[in-house]
Order: sequence, then structure tokens, then C-alpha cells
Amino acid sequence: MEKEQIRENFYEAVNGEWLKSAKIPGDQPAVSAFLELHLGIEKTLMDLTSKWENNPSDLNDNLKKYIKLYQMTKDFDKRDELGTKPFEIILNKINQLNSLSDLEKAFKDLTLESIDTPFGFNVMQDFMNSDNQILYFGASDLFLPDTSYYHDESKKKQLIGLFTMTTTQLLKLYGFSEKEVDQLISDALAFDALLVPVTKSSVEKADYVKMYNPLSKDKVNELTNNFNLMSQAEALVNQSVDQLIITNLDFIHAFDKIITDDNFALIKSWMIVSNAIKFASDLTNDIRIAGGAFRRALSGTKEAQSKEKYAFYQAYNRFGQVVGLHYGETYFGPIAKEDVKIMVHEMIGVYQERISNNTWLKEDTKEKAIKKLSTLKVHVGYPDELPPYFDKFEIKSYDEGSNLIQERLSMNKIINTHEFNKYNQKPNRNIWGMPASMVNAYYSPTNNQIVFPAAILQEPYYSLEQTPSENYGGIGAVMAHEISHAFDNNGAKFDETGSLNNWWTKADLDAFDNKAKDMIALFDGVETGFGECNGELTVSENIADSGGLRCALEASKKNKSHNLEEFFKNWARVWRMKASEEYSQLLLKVDVHGPSILRANMQLSNLEEFQDYYHIKKNDGMYLPKEKMVSIW
Ligand SMILES: [Zn+2]
Repeated sequence: MEKEQIRENFYEAVNGEWLKSAKIPGDQPAVSAFLELHLGIEKTLMDLTSKWENNPSDLNDNLKKYIKLYQMTKDFDKRDELGTKPFEIILNKINQLNSLSDLEKAFKDLTLESIDTPFGFNVMQDFMNSDNQILYFGASDLFLPDTSYYHDESKKKQLIGLFTMTTTQLLKLYGFSEKEVDQLISDALAFDALLVPVTKSSVEKADYVKMYNPLSKDKVNELTNNFNLMSQAEALVNQSVDQLIITNLDFIHAFDKIITDDNFALIKSWMIVSNAIKFASDLTNDIRIAGGAFRRALSGTKEAQSKEKYAFYQAYNRFGQVVGLHYGETYFGPIAKEDVKIMVHEMIGVYQERISNNTWLKEDTKEKAIKKLSTLKVHVGYPDELPPYFDKFEIKSYDEGSNLIQERLSMNKIINTHEFNKYNQKPNRNIWGMPASMVNAYYSPTNNQIVFPAAILQEPYYSLEQTPSENYGGIGAVMAHEISHAFDNNGAKFDETGSLNNWWTKADLDAFDNKAKDMIALFDGVETGFGECNGELTVSENIADSGGLRCALEASKKNKSHNLEEFFKNWARVWRMKASEEYSQLLLKVDVHGPSILRANMQLSNLEEFQDYYHIKKNDGMYLPKEKMVSIW
């Protein structure tokens, strides 16, 4: 590594060779350290799946069901033979609807089967009282991934054109005539256009406390004269419901103007188009390929997955937690689980120390922050419990008269019934939000809990073969990143029990808000090679990266073999990524994480230790003047 290059662009200096030689797989929009680990796990799990298929008798009941489903997903001869017939059950349900009153009658059934309707409910923890679960209500997603695309005329024309072209091909494969296809798509787009002005942008969605808008039953009734929303809510949870949490007030205020019998033809076409896209994955090989075409075009992915991979994921996506538990127990195990837990607690300890030594918080706020840290729950490797609905699944094969759509609807029904039954119940905080075999980690603000699945606990994040400083720059920083989410602009609003509760003194909160603004300014408008970073969209993740990196550095300094260069290099290494132009641009619009190159470079530039270690000078690319540095945690 040349010194000059280090000072100019550290990310490229560290990852230059990799960036040159890494190949983006044809069926992926990008390749990254995350994805490389993922591909390794994918291979392990696909090999395991074939092995299990040859000898299923030793498997537990849920894995047996997984294999039974897999045998259906991979039987493309049968799928092609059945054609679009399995979709008729859904199409008939939609075709029978001719008015909002028909939709009211069918709504519960459609919701339980996860057949797309233009709006819907889900049960989640109450932000105000995390010990209870309540009903949230919102509109369905738009066809394009962000509202900003609709406000840029040329981009809109291009993407709606792409959507129309790919959806036309798909609907023709479903057997609709050319005339029907044109009508369906123009109606569906007309309905989508009605939702655009009342849908939040990705930037607005990133502030998730603003999703929490309680409206009383009376108020909801006042706003929804054309459709009895409250009675649907009550039917779904089998109880009386006194309020809904509205995720987007603009939509409910426009509800009676958009959800009308005059618009019903548009709504119906929207439902046919949305569900044709959604359920394409369960039909013939041609249809599943056509069903993914728009998403592939949006992300610059060259080709569809092979049949083999597709069939694996179709079954795995349903049983991810079951397969993931096996993965975690087998490839990670209880000893590693304890080992990594110790490391997380070490990071929490360093964090606590940093908060005690913090110079911009008053003692009262520090005490509360430390309380939040000391009650933080740590989950590592694999969960102690799985969602109970897997036990209720019953997979019926083709020979037993079933097909993939029928199976999906019946599994949806079991899952959704379980979900709606959680209404007004205490949450089970042992259930994880992702499988143990997923290369990721998360902080849950409503549970004040961090989760590190087994899959991420591998090289280059963590390995016994790596030096301690490398591990601190990798997994240590990831751990502290997740801890920092407890104190980012979203997490800071929740208390140690996971409820929305302001534990800050006024002056401290003002100081924090100003620091968050500085963080926005630090990233906003910075060029990435594919467009500018949006500082507001990425602020929570940038705060977490910054806090994570500083805490991990401190932990590394305490280690006797501490080596700054190894630490910095591994931090830059874990963010290596090579992506298609389309995907890079899409992420800039919708991803709350900073662009990879800035996660590496800007976060390091923002550290005095980095500037000093490499003697960064004013004209160097990695230079950041001290007065622009933002240190929060
Ligand atoms: Zn994060």
C-alpha cells in the first residue's frame, strides 16, 4: 500500500486489489464482504439441503416440512405442467369483488392469506408501552421504490416505462389478452398515482417515531366513511379495538377521497397486478423469471437465479429460522456463543466508560444512558426459541392435491392468525427478527436488545486467525455499532424498557440534536461516484458507525497487541463493495446505511487517531479539519 494512496483514498488503498478482481455474480446486483460470507453460507445450506433430502428420516419435524416444501419448489416440470392454474384461486377471489362493500366482506380472508390489498394492518409493540402489542395501519407500497422517483419527470418516465414493459410481459404469460393487459396496467398505475402524494419518502420513513400516530376509534370512523376500517380491525384481532396507530396520517386523511366506489375498478386492477407480481414466484419457470424482471432491472442485476438456487430460496425463505437454528447450533455452537457474549459485554463496558467520561452530557442524562446500557439484552449466535407457527405448518405435496400457491396461502394464514392473536398481549422478547444464518445484526429499540446471528461471526468480521485489532476493527465495531443504535436519533427516544420516553434533560437533548445535525452535514452531498450521499436519510446509521468505531478503537487500545494500522485496515475491509451503477444509485435513494466508500473513508477521516497516524495533510483526500469532526458517542 502506497502512503500517497492511503492519504488520498484509504478504502481504495486497502481494497484496490479486491475491487479490481471481485466479480459481481450474474444473479446479484453487487458483491461485498457481506455477500461473500452469504455466498459461503448459501453453499453450506444448499449442500445440507441436498443431504437432508436424501435422508430425511433423522430430521426434526420442522426440517422435514422444509424438505417437503423444497421438493415441491424444485419440481419445475410439475410447476410448468400446472401453469397458471394455481393462481386462479387468488384471481377468482379478486374478480368476485365489485364494490368496497364486497372488499369489506372479503378483507379478513385476503389479509390472513397475505393477498395484497391497497391498505392493511399489522400488530407490533406499542411504542408507548413496549410490554403491549397493538394495531398499526397503513397503505401499501408504491410500485417504484421511492417517492422521489415520481417527482423527477425523466426518471419517472424511464422507470414507469420499465415497469410497464416488464409487467406487460408477465401478465401476458398469465394468459391475459393484450387489451386486458393494457387496461390492467393503466388502471393499476392510475391507482398507484393516487397514493404517491400521501406516501412518505425514504427520508421521511427513516424517522420512525413519526410512524406513531394514535387515532381513536371515533376519529378513524370519521375519516373512513366509505369503508368500515374499525370493524375490519376488530374482526382481525377478535376483540374490540379502541385506537389504531396510523403510520402515515396523510393517507388516512385522504382515505375517503382515494378509497371510493368510483375508484373501485382501479383498485381491483391494482390488486390483480400486485398479486400477479407477488405470486409469480410460485408458478412456472418463465413466470417466476418474468416476475423478477422489474426488480432486476432496477438494481442492475443481469440474470435471474438458476432454478436450483431459486428453489432453495423459495423453501428456505419460509423456513429460514428453522434452518438457521440448525446452522447456528451446528456451525457456531454453545462455546462460541459464550465467547462472543463475553466480547459484547466487553464492548458494553467500554461504552459505559465512554459515557461516564462524556464531556457534553449532564450527570442526570449520563446516569439514564448507563441504565439503558446495563439493561441492554444481548442475543448471540442462534435464538433460544422459534416462532411457534412452524409447528402448525402442514405441507401437502402435489400428490396430495396441493400446489405452491395453496401451500403459501395456508402458511400465510397460520402466520397471520398468530400475528393478529398477539394483539393486546405481552411480546415474547426471545423471538428473533432474522434467522441465525443471515449475515447481519440488529438493535431493537422496543426491546432494548441487540442480536448477532451466527452468520456474521466469521472472517473478515471475526476470526481466531485474525489479530485482536483486526477483530476489533471488524466485529468489535459492528457490535458497538449496534449498541450505538440505542443512542442514535431514533433509538435515543426510547428508554431502557423499550418504550418511547424522553429520558434526556432539555439542554442535553438540544446538544444531541445539534450533533446529529452536524453528522447530517458531514455526509450530505458528498459525492460517491454514483451520486451524492443524502445526509438526512443516513444519519441514524452514520451516528451508529461513528459511535461504533470510536468505542471499538478504545477497546482495541486496551489490548496489549493493539495495532492501529490493523484496526483501520479491517474497518475499511469489511465495507468493501462493488455494485452495478443502477444498484448504487438505488441505494443512495432508499438505503438508510451510508454508501460503503463513505462508511470506510468518512468515518476514518472523522477520527483524530487516523489523521495523526497517517499524517494526513490539508490537500489529502482523507483530510478533515478538526472543526468539522463530529464526535457523539
Ligand atoms: Zn445499523
